[in-house]
Amino acid sequence: MRHIAIIGSGPAGYYTAEAAQKAFGDEVLIDVFDRLPVPYGLIRTGVAPDHQSIKAVSKRYEKVALSDNVRFVGNVTIGEDVSIPELRELYDAVVLATGAPRDRPLDIPGEDLGNVFGSAAFVGWYNGHPQFAGLDPDLSGKTAVVIGMGNVALDVARILAKTPAELAGSDIVAHALEALEGSKFERVVLLGRRGPHQIMMTPKELGELGELARAAPHIAPADLPAPEEDAILEPGLRKSVSHLRAYAATPEHIRAEKPIAIEFAFLAAPKALLGTGKVEAIEIEKTRLVHGQAEGTGEIERLPADLVVSCIGYRTSPIPDVPFDERAGRFANDEGRILPGLYCVGWARRGPSGTIGTNRPDGYSVVELIAEDVEAGVLGRATRRGRAGFDALAQARQLDVVTFRDWKKIEEAEERAAREGAPREKFVDIEGMIKAGR
Ligand SMILES: Cc1cc2nc3c(=O)[nH]c(=O)nc-3n(C[C@H](O)[C@H](O)[C@H](O)COP(=O)(O)OP(=O)(O)OC[C@H]3O[C@@H](n4cnc5c(N)ncnc54)[C@H](O)[C@@H]3O)c2cc1C
Repeated sequence: MRHIAIIGSGPAGYYTAEAAQKAFGDEVLIDVFDRLPVPYGLIRTGVAPDHQSIKAVSKRYEKVALSDNVRFVGNVTIGEDVSIPELRELYDAVVLATGAPRDRPLDIPGEDLGNVFGSAAFVGWYNGHPQFAGLDPDLSGKTAVVIGMGNVALDVARILAKTPAELAGSDIVAHALEALEGSKFERVVLLGRRGPHQIMMTPKELGELGELARAAPHIAPADLPAPEEDAILEPGLRKSVSHLRAYAATPEHIRAEKPIAIEFAFLAAPKALLGTGKVEAIEIEKTRLVHGQAEGTGEIERLPADLVVSCIGYRTSPIPDVPFDERAGRFANDEGRILPGLYCVGWARRGPSGTIGTNRPDGYSVVELIAEDVEAGVLGRATRRGRAGFDALAQARQLDVVTFRDWKKIEEAEERAAREGAPREKFVDIEGMIKAGR
């Protein structure tokens, strides 16, 4: 019997478990660890609460989780409760699928001012991640600035702009819905260092901005390149840019019917955040494109900003005894191999890019590496203690392990607590989750 420990129960973790089942069948036992008492990583705490159909992918992971040779080991933080050397001693292969949960810093003055957040924190707040449930952003200002031109920036802008009725059928947590109900934003400014042809927004998500009840996208026609230049774009991006063109062509009197303006500010690099205690303005430098890259022009502008959310990417959290690539912000690895018997997958391997589905081939390829290493004798003979050894360690340390069965009870309690029309009301604290699971 081979024993595999997968650290992280997000998409990369469960695709790896699925692949390992297929590759090794009855010859493997797989433990999927998570620091939270609840599974599925960013499917629960990242993907937008008003995109329930995307979250449905968790049903596929549940099928894997419920199979005989896979188990969920929740509420255990690897690197704190149990070390990597301990796991490597117990399991033939240890796969890090810990994602990239830390915000990449803006590295500009004023970043520490109040009401300035990274998207991991802000998204975690409205999605009920226990680490960020207490964030308490002030939504009483007129202007929110969202830094970044990717899908996460779109999610944040859309959530800030939607009416309570538009959010009613989502699983946005109660504290966020209540705070958003009282929000007073008139402008949500999306700020990008580069131009319309460099956005990282997908067509479907960008198209949604044009269908909001009380908000309309505002784009200055002069900011768009000549239409014939769209021909060189790949088809997805061309479609996204066609949405920008449609928004730019919308007559002012139609846009003005909606009280919130979602403004696209292209070729604008954030330089400093200004304010006393709390952010009040953002200083930007106008840029120009040189071979697709933004270059400062020296022209400085100031925008009011009552809330700032930066959506500029994420970094993996280091874990003691695991080589880390500081520059790239993820584990140092060669196509998924870190050290003999230690691997990484998903965002922890390649950084924060791609869709949920991109993690699937990642999971399958790391299992191919494990199979190669078994074959080559790198992982030694099949004599490790695996989950029996872990259980002894957990007992000795009095770890409060949450099982998949416990999670199903938590899930049922969340479904019972849902407001009308919503799929669930999430627990936002670890204690509440654990109590519901018992
Ligand atoms: C705001 C946002 C919105 C997104 N929306 C979409 C979308 O609409 N469509 C789409 O296709 N993709 C979307 N994505 C991308 C998608 O969520 C990722 O591709 C995917 O979640 C990455 O999977 P992962 O398993 O590598 O990491 P994660 O999903 O982050 O999972 C990592 C898991 O590891 C656990 N963990 C971390 N450290 C430890 C530790 N030390 N010990 C134990 N457990 C640990 C975490 O608790 C977590 O459960 C979105 C991402 C974000 C941030």
